[in-house]
Amino acid sequence: MKRTTLSSIAAFILLCSISNSVWAAEKVLVEKHVLSNGLTVLLYEDHTLPLVAVNIWYDVGSRDEQPGKTGFAHLFEHYMFEGSKNVPNGQFDKIISGMGGYNNASTSNDRTDYYDVAPSEGLEELLRLESDRMGFLKEAMTQASLDKQKGIVKNEKRQNYDNKAYGGLIPALSQTAWPEGHPYSHTTIGAMSDIDAASLQNVQDFHARYYRPDNAVLVVSGDHDSAQTLKLIEKWFGGLKAPENLPVARAQVSAVPAEFAQSRREKTVVDDKAQQPYILMAYRVPGLGKKDSEYIGVLADVLGGGRTSRLEQSLRYDQHLVLSIEAGNWGLQAQDLFLIEAMPAPGVKLETVVGAIEAEIRKLAEGGVKPEELGRTKAKLRTARVLALEKVDEIASALVEGQAVSGDPLMFEKQADAVMAMQPQEIQSAAQKYLVPSNSAVIYIIPKSGEPK
Ligand SMILES: [Zn+2]
Repeated sequence: MKRTTLSSIAAFILLCSISNSVWAAEKVLVEKHVLSNGLTVLLYEDHTLPLVAVNIWYDVGSRDEQPGKTGFAHLFEHYMFEGSKNVPNGQFDKIISGMGGYNNASTSNDRTDYYDVAPSEGLEELLRLESDRMGFLKEAMTQASLDKQKGIVKNEKRQNYDNKAYGGLIPALSQTAWPEGHPYSHTTIGAMSDIDAASLQNVQDFHARYYRPDNAVLVVSGDHDSAQTLKLIEKWFGGLKAPENLPVARAQVSAVPAEFAQSRREKTVVDDKAQQPYILMAYRVPGLGKKDSEYIGVLADVLGGGRTSRLEQSLRYDQHLVLSIEAGNWGLQAQDLFLIEAMPAPGVKLETVVGAIEAEIRKLAEGGVKPEELGRTKAKLRTARVLALEKVDEIASALVEGQAVSGDPLMFEKQADAVMAMQPQEIQSAAQKYLVPSNSAVIYIIPKSGEPK
């Protein structure tokens, strides 16, 4: 992200669970258009508040980076705020905050996403700003601004990964859950030496290859008139062209080889900033929008979604083995990771906690889920969906994700319907199929003072 980055994997899970729970109660009506230059446009009207959100999803993330060029997608996200031909450096944020709006961006393994929110009358200005940096960024690129962003990104890496307690979790998980060379096996922040080596030419090439209308989805949601907005989008984006003879280079993310998934992979990281040990367990599960992915959020809620969940009840309140425990998912497209993270209570051995987690998973796989548990999860997800639909930026990000991931902006509705119709037996089958030790990785963070004996 531009201004803030994940402070811990817990924050990451939180973001993911929000994006996965935008499930609609009433039918969402969305218009879809594809401009002649390949830009996909989604329009959704909600006149409850005098606000509009613009969200642009570029189909490029750290999975697409080549060896020696890791961290480029994220570095480039920063660079998008350095000014473009008609928007001088420093003006992008100022113009939006001057209108009373806000904006930000984030980069993941799979995509780079930009969003802006402003009072309704600011819509055309938001479109102008976004079109300028999609079409005319190169004209404003300078070595000085690249050097500035490289410095900011390296500082972000130091603050959030290298010099932070538990900052080694994500890098260790990426290396352990995926085979070497897999597109998900390196972090979005990238390697210091690769960030250092990024040249102005590299950055210009990256923009030309990926930041183009035929590699983007644009959503406008909120208080606007769809017919009028489509005209404005034609005005500001219709003239942009995808470069010829420069195809988008997309990483092929294939399934993990069977031999890799034959046994649990483990890694221990000694952390001189951490005060308490930490455990992160990850199971490879279907990616966003893929078959069976609808079970993942339900499994996460039943096992580790708050006080009433099985893991929290058993490990925290009954057995006093952990100070905290929760479950969620990373949110990857090709193949996702189901995550359980736990902070053991002082004096409790890490293997005891892992054993207790596995016992709870076995109980679910063998004994199934109770109808009242599933009912509670459905009710929570329904509430979350209603609340999320009230926010113009959250509905925009749900629509853009559905379109980009599955070609269906209403993917979240389909998943919501699937969840509401789910039977206990299906949850049990999903646990049996995916939450098995050979399909998992475990990361242990040990303070430098050592694990309790
Ligand atoms: Zn950043």
